[in-house]
Amino acid sequence: MTEARILVVEDEESYRDSLNFLLRREGFEVMLAETGPQGVAAFARDGADVVLLDLMLPGMSGTEVFHAIRERSDVPILMVTAKDDQVDKIIGLELGADDYVTKPYSGRELVARIRAVLRRHATGLEGIPDEPERLTVAGMTLDPERLTLTRDGESESVPPKEFALLFLLAQNAGRVLPRQVIIDRVWGADYFGDTKTLDVHIKRIRSRIEAVPAEPVIIQTVRGVGYTLEP
Ligand code: CA
Repeated sequence: MTEARILVVEDEESYRDSLNFLLRREGFEVMLAETGPQGVAAFARDGADVVLLDLMLPGMSGTEVFHAIRERSDVPILMVTAKDDQVDKIIGLELGADDYVTKPYSGRELVARIRAVLRRHATGLEGIPDEPERLTVAGMTLDPERLTLTRDGESESVPPKEFALLFLLAQNAGRVLPRQVIIDRVWGADYFGDTKTLDVHIKRIRSRIEAVPAEPVIIQTVRGVGYTLEP
């Protein structure tokens, strides 16, 4: 299988150079664009399997580039936002970016995110509907109106955050959800609390649904990325 082709739209030379080096070393094919118009033109000319798009670009903003590419294609777009800029994150999510990373990012994390986005895109899994209905996956039935979990004919109530987390994972079964995406969706994009909260909730859910919570098979940890629920 040939490795994916990545279009990098980034105005800062140092980031462009290091991304070019990092992504090529990982075996990706890399196309570089310095400006929004160059990025749109490169995508129109050569296409890409993933677009890594800096939100803060001179001239044509990342948002405009996003829309210009989206008009043509549903290619996965990973937004790159400035350090700790919550506004950028929110814009990225509202636009419907497939994921985002915050500068400065670790190369390993970025590559993991790119691979996760590619896998997700390949499987064509859906996002979360506005009015979720009852869902059955991995031998569990989740009722979002009653916040109940039914397994082996037995129902139990689940606290709201735990339920939201489990439902999100179940809705996206088979797909790796990055930690930050989970935190934003379950706790809100303005949540600044300890990210250990997520692990604590995962632990509680595992104690409900896993035969051996210390050796989970339903909800799996993807090191350095997040969690996935095995369908
Ligand atoms: Ca920039």
